[in-house]
Amino acid sequence: MVQFENVIKRFGDLEVLQGLNFSIQPGERVTLIGPSGSGKTTILRLLMTLEKVTDGVIWVEGEPLSHMKRGDRMVTANEAHLRQVRKKIGMVFQQFNLFPNMKVMRNITEAPIHTLGIPKEKAHERARELLELVGLSDKADNYPSQLSGGQQQRVAIARSLAMSPDILLLDEVTSALDPELVADVLDLLKDIATTTDITMLIVTHEMGFARDVSDRVMMFDRGVVVEDGPPSQVMGQPEHERTRSFLKAVL
Ligand code: ADP
Repeated sequence: MVQFENVIKRFGDLEVLQGLNFSIQPGERVTLIGPSGSGKTTILRLLMTLEKVTDGVIWVEGEPLSHMKRGDRMVTANEAHLRQVRKKIGMVFQQFNLFPNMKVMRNITEAPIHTLGIPKEKAHERARELLELVGLSDKADNYPSQLSGGQQQRVAIARSLAMSPDILLLDEVTSALDPELVADVLDLLKDIATTTDITMLIVTHEMGFARDVSDRVMMFDRGVVVEDGPPSQVMGQPEHERTRSFLKAVL
């Protein structure tokens, strides 16, 4: 589904990812953990093509995610295919990023109608289903500012699902929420993980959630994978000192 091949990302002199190699299978739920600044968000931003790879290739469903440099060679991608691939990847951000001037319904239907070309009636019908799934059927006509942070985040999740993504990227989606609103959003994500086969890449500091939802935990430190395995192993019996000290600090 996703493969990182020797991916290097630099910001100026700072090498944030140092030749990263890993693959993610279809339907896998992978949590990325590690200290702040270790490159986790950068990985998601590269997948969303919000950032460009410095060197190496990211493959998605067997195709390069964009035109990329691999050493002296260019790996080129077919433009039509690129557009297709990018539509299959959805992201939910820490700060929700809803359109403030649009009501909830339009926040959810805007991209399906204008990017996927789904007929308006169908998009609305799907949005109503998704609002029910996220427990906000009565908020379709509200503006984001009229909702709590937890409700806004649930709308943001519904908006991502409306694009029928194959891959969902979740970047610390509960970090900006008041503590009493966190559980609702985590429960919703658990629901999605158990009722769909969407591949999920999750950056989170919620270790209990990581343990419950993921098939696999990858521990990063300074742009390299320190440990990679099922949560029971990485979180229960970590092999590396860096993982142990990180877990000690967050648990
Ligand atoms: P994490 O998600 O693990 O906290 P990030 O991927 O956000 O880490 O950041 C990794 C490193 O890259 C940090 O040192 C951060 O300051 C740096 N960084 C991220 N984005 C940029 C940017 N646009 N310009 C310069 N440095 C950046």
